Amino acid sequence: MKVGELEGVGPKSVPLFRELGVETSHDLLDYLPFRYEDLRYPTPSNALGSSGGEENAVGTVSHVKERRVRGLEIVEVRLRDDAGEFTAKWIGRNRYVYGRFKEGMRLFVRGRVERTLAGAVINVTQYASLREGEAYHGEMVPVYRASKDLTTRKIASVVRKNLPRLLDEADDDPLPDDVRAKASYPALRDAYRAVHAPRTPEEAQQARERFIFTEFLVLAAGAQLRRAERERSHDASALTIPHDLLEQFAGSVGFPLTGAQRRAIGEIWEDMARDVPMNRLLQGDVGSGKTLVAAAAIVLAARNGMQSALMAPTEILASQHASKLAPLLLPFGITVEAVFGSQAAKARNAAEGRIASGEALLAVGTHALITGSVDFARLGLAIIDEQHRFGVEQRARLRAKGVAPHTLHMTATPIPRTLAQSVYADLDLSTIDELPPGRTPIETYAIRTSRLGRAYEFVEANVARGHQAYIVAPAIDEESELTSVIAEAERLKSDVFPERRIGLLHGRLSSREKDEVMGRFVRGEIDILLATTVVEVGVDVPNASVMVVLDALRYGLAQLHQLRGRVGRGAAKSFCLLVYPDDAGETERLGILTDSTDGFVIAEEDLRLRGAGEFAGTAQSGAADLWIADLVRDIDVYRVAKTEAQAIIAGDPTLRRPEHAALRAALERAPSTRALVLSS
Ligand code: ADP
Ligand code: MG
Repeated sequence: MKVGELEGVGPKSVPLFRELGVETSHDLLDYLPFRYEDLRYPTPSNALGSSGGEENAVGTVSHVKERRVRGLEIVEVRLRDDAGEFTAKWIGRNRYVYGRFKEGMRLFVRGRVERTLAGAVINVTQYASLREGEAYHGEMVPVYRASKDLTTRKIASVVRKNLPRLLDEADDDPLPDDVRAKASYPALRDAYRAVHAPRTPEEAQQARERFIFTEFLVLAAGAQLRRAERERSHDASALTIPHDLLEQFAGSVGFPLTGAQRRAIGEIWEDMARDVPMNRLLQGDVGSGKTLVAAAAIVLAARNGMQSALMAPTEILASQHASKLAPLLLPFGITVEAVFGSQAAKARNAAEGRIASGEALLAVGTHALITGSVDFARLGLAIIDEQHRFGVEQRARLRAKGVAPHTLHMTATPIPRTLAQSVYADLDLSTIDELPPGRTPIETYAIRTSRLGRAYEFVEANVARGHQAYIVAPAIDEESELTSVIAEAERLKSDVFPERRIGLLHGRLSSREKDEVMGRFVRGEIDILLATTVVEVGVDVPNASVMVVLDALRYGLAQLHQLRGRVGRGAAKSFCLLVYPDDAGETERLGILTDSTDGFVIAEEDLRLRGAGEFAGTAQSGAADLWIADLVRDIDVYRVAKTEAQAIIAGDPTLRRPEHAALRAALERAPSTRALVLSS
């Protein structure tokens, strides 16, 4: 049913509801209040003012004092209850209370309480008059997320008027009866009633938890189901691992592998030796040496006569991968074939020919890899770099180029372990938590904006020594000069670094223009690159040794860490300067960055400070799309739900039993983006 068909929703309200994401009666049912006002009990007048929040009182009017001052109504009503006297006060324009109250009336009032010498004074936010002899029956009033033109009151009234009809529209309960009984959660319709029209706060809370639990159950069951399906499919190639291959590989790279790299290679190879397709995420900080691990996987595939594909989000990243991989793979007779959108037709055709014949054992490219013209003879391994930058379908299309290829996802955005396991419930996780030895850590300083001039002198000094620098500004075309890359670029060119070659990179450039600017920076034709956060992911310019981030408090810690990772990739000592406003109060967050360069430590802190919904890694992964659950706040509920999901899928691996039909239906209804992001 469309909301327009509900009682109390006229044609004018329909678009207002739509703005809040509510189009159907079902959406409205799922539009849960985020808090309640407890109007159930009046406080006796002699106890008013102890809660600090809004309080309720009921009394009989003994005196009314009112005046108008330049359009302002000031109405003070003295009220009496069994415990004594108190005052209710209205001040404001258009409150329509002037002349409304008479001695002897009974009133309910609610508001924040001030204690004065003359007793308690309530600054009224809500009131109602009670008929003579009418007993006061207060309720729990739901508060909904509202908009300027659609108030919570209006939403509450529509919900209240239509509640029985709305409840009729509820789906079958996805929560199986036995699981529900075990947790003593209310039935679905009772739970909806209890969140929209609770009798007690406890009832509302319990219903809410039931929805959180169910949301997690559906999520976890979906991931389990896909894992079970994958485990049943024995259509991947089980690769043979020659006994001396690891030592051969390690011997050919020219430096010892770190322990974390060996472990990751071991985990990946073990997966690839099974006939069940691998689905593994390799996470590791920038510079932790993921490329090498990917190379080892490619070598194993090649030894078994299988081709590999590596897809990266931009041409620059893809070509950097190609040039880093080539020397690692050459000793194993593997040549790299590149497939880019900007490639000349002739070169592209030749590359595609070698991929189709099976001669090319590795194809590296962008989205161009998943176009129709690319065909693999025997694709055995699909590697997806910065996996969150690709859509579900794009990732699926790469896999579809082979028969159940093993899949390796890579990310440089470390996600805390607990969170990763729940977010990526269907992915196995390999973590590189150790940097190669001999790195000089990036020195990081937080500095006030008034010292920006000194920061730029420091940049100049480094550029004069032949290095390059990044300056990151938050946005384009903003009011504040400091935060506008375009304005800042002009200023830098004319006033600050007149001698230097300055490049400008921001999100309004086409991807071709971006690649062009980045290319010039990579080749050293630009000294200072002024950029928005589009520069964040993966680019490797070893000659860049300074990163300045303007207005650094705007960013999350994980994002700042990513930005910082653009420098410190060469032999020279590198620096990161985080610039914050002089009047900023809180700089604790920046302190975490100046103290640590460990991406996992920073990710944990970011998570702690911001919660899962805002956490960069999860926003990218789709976990932020959760309806009411929060993976950090509700992690305990999640654990129980995950265990229950495991038990359900273990006993009914395809969810064919009638008692699981509703759960299955809920899984099928779940937004595909969310479900699939979690699976792949
Ligand atoms: P990531 O892709 O994780 O950001 P890379 O694979 O690009 O990191 O590696 C970063 C740099 O570290 C490269 O120059 C690489 O040659 C070097 N490197 C990788 N592994 C090791 C190691 N075990 N010892 C020394 N240097 C290494
Ligand atoms: Mg890399």
